[in-house]
Amino acid sequence: MGAYFTICSFIFIMIFIYFFFSKGSIINTETKIYKFLIIVTEIGLFFDIFAYALFSLGCPVDSFLYFFVVKIELTYFVAWILAFTFYIYVISYHKKEENSKTKHFKKVFTKLKFVFIILLFLIFTLPLDFITKNNVVFPQGLSVNLTYIFAFICIIMSICFAIKNRRNIILTKYSPLFAMIISVIAMILVQSLFPDLFLINFCISIVIVILYFTIENPDLKMIEALNIAKNQAERANNAKTDFLSNMSHEIRTPLNAVTGFAQALKDERDLPDRVKEDVNDILMASESLLEIVNGVLDISKIEANKLEIINNNYNPYKIFNDLVTLTKSRIVEKPIELIVNIDQTIPKILYGDHTRVKQVILNILTNAAKYTKEGHIEFKVSSLIKGDICRLIVSVEDTGIGIKRDKIDKLFNKFERLDEDRNTTIEGTGLGLAITKKLVQLMHGELVVQSIYGKGSKFTVSIDQKVAPSTVKLEDTLEVRKEDLQKDKDVKGKSVLVVDDNKLNIKVATRLLEDYGIEVDSCLSGFECLEKIKTIKYDLIFMDDMMPKMSGTETFHKMKENPNFTTPVVALTANAIAGMEEKYLNEGFNSYLPKPIERKALDSIINKYLNNE
Ligand code: ADP
Repeated sequence: MGAYFTICSFIFIMIFIYFFFSKGSIINTETKIYKFLIIVTEIGLFFDIFAYALFSLGCPVDSFLYFFVVKIELTYFVAWILAFTFYIYVISYHKKEENSKTKHFKKVFTKLKFVFIILLFLIFTLPLDFITKNNVVFPQGLSVNLTYIFAFICIIMSICFAIKNRRNIILTKYSPLFAMIISVIAMILVQSLFPDLFLINFCISIVIVILYFTIENPDLKMIEALNIAKNQAERANNAKTDFLSNMSHEIRTPLNAVTGFAQALKDERDLPDRVKEDVNDILMASESLLEIVNGVLDISKIEANKLEIINNNYNPYKIFNDLVTLTKSRIVEKPIELIVNIDQTIPKILYGDHTRVKQVILNILTNAAKYTKEGHIEFKVSSLIKGDICRLIVSVEDTGIGIKRDKIDKLFNKFERLDEDRNTTIEGTGLGLAITKKLVQLMHGELVVQSIYGKGSKFTVSIDQKVAPSTVKLEDTLEVRKEDLQKDKDVKGKSVLVVDDNKLNIKVATRLLEDYGIEVDSCLSGFECLEKIKTIKYDLIFMDDMMPKMSGTETFHKMKENPNFTTPVVALTANAIAGMEEKYLNEGFNSYLPKPIERKALDSIINKYLNNE
């Protein structure tokens, strides 16, 4: 009867081994022990069946062969229980560091090998004999007793490990141990009733299956490994974004000097024409460089899921006008007509991320201007209003070079430029449309491209924006708050303080401000600034933010602690990515001016805070 159980277990474990090894699994100490356990179990079951067969074929129990087979069975049992105890020890062991853990397990394993060799020696040297009761043969003698005592000690040790570490480990991990204890008790009970039922191997097979579901679920392990890999990749991506942010900040500082001095030079009277042209080229080149820096930063932020959509009330007409002006300036030298068609039913104030909406439309308008030699560009904006949602439908149609049908899919790949041989004279990085598409997705919009190669293209973007409630007035929109209010500047005699830890930046700002006839004072840290404002009353302060020891924001808050301090403070910073303007205004700064300093933006700040009129 017992033989049937053993044969079934043998076949079952064989199938189990086949599926287990054909499936991938992660190699760690637990899985190594598990592999050892299932193979040893199968070998043990084989010898068990072999012993039954010998007995059934009439092989005398005192023969050497029978004797030898039983000794091997005892050895198998000792090896199994030793490995199982080691497994319980491994899952109970709690030291965080993976490397030191593996080293420790290797040491324990060496000791266990030593114990096993001694046991092997004892099992094979200590006496073994058999008694036959009711036609059932029972092995007994010192070697059998030793095996049982050792198994008992191992189970007690496993229970101790489990109790000691019960807080550190999920209880289900110990279920093979519980199964082991329960099946041993059940086996003793069953065997006392039916002495010919040898169930030990059957119990072991059950424990093996339970073990599979607790330790050796390869899917769970794979997911765990995938999660670790995902976290590592995310960390690497974040590190890349941080690196790019820092780089962009660093690049902006020298770029600020290049554009700043070039601006100042450009305004210089009596410059020879050739120098004027060179200065214009410097300005254009630095603008493209800035565009590239911003593009790389945007794409890395998008990939790290760090790009936020910052909503505000804004005037869409102001944006469309700006876009038209910018596009016009790009096509002045080409025989291209810009047809503008803006639906006047679009609400005056919308709520959304105006910077990103503008960036998206500007990208497709710029492309139309870049890739069209002659003809026209039609910039059309219509709207669909449903409740408080206004769907802006912006289309830009050109009579440019067009895009081959099979290339349209590649249009949105990073750094992918199509038709390179025809585009060599046109500047670009291949980032614009990749960013545009991601931005449109982030705003839950849609971007559709239609094009006929050689004839022209049409890019259509639709983005939903909220209609601002009627209580919001035009004056509350961000653009009006920073708009150029007066044209002519009368700022003579005004004094300005520039706070920046970088001497070159101070030089640039001073050079640009002195052109207006303003008295410029400067200092290199927040501490110096706090000292200066105690004795001097400035009309305006330009404050860099990223300064060592005390940041511009900290300095600003310290200044504001004095209730009599009323001087307007402008954040003048290379921390110029999208969302920074809102951040600084929310901190309480009066205005924000990104580096490299743009003459127009500086003009508007000077007009706003220093104009005598
Ligand atoms: P860039 O213009 O910097 O190369 P973009 O991502 O904006 O990068 O555009 C990717 C490519 O798509 C361009 O190199 C160009 O080949 C093609 N493309 C984009 N817009 C147009 C257009 N309006 N007409 C023709 N080709 C275009």
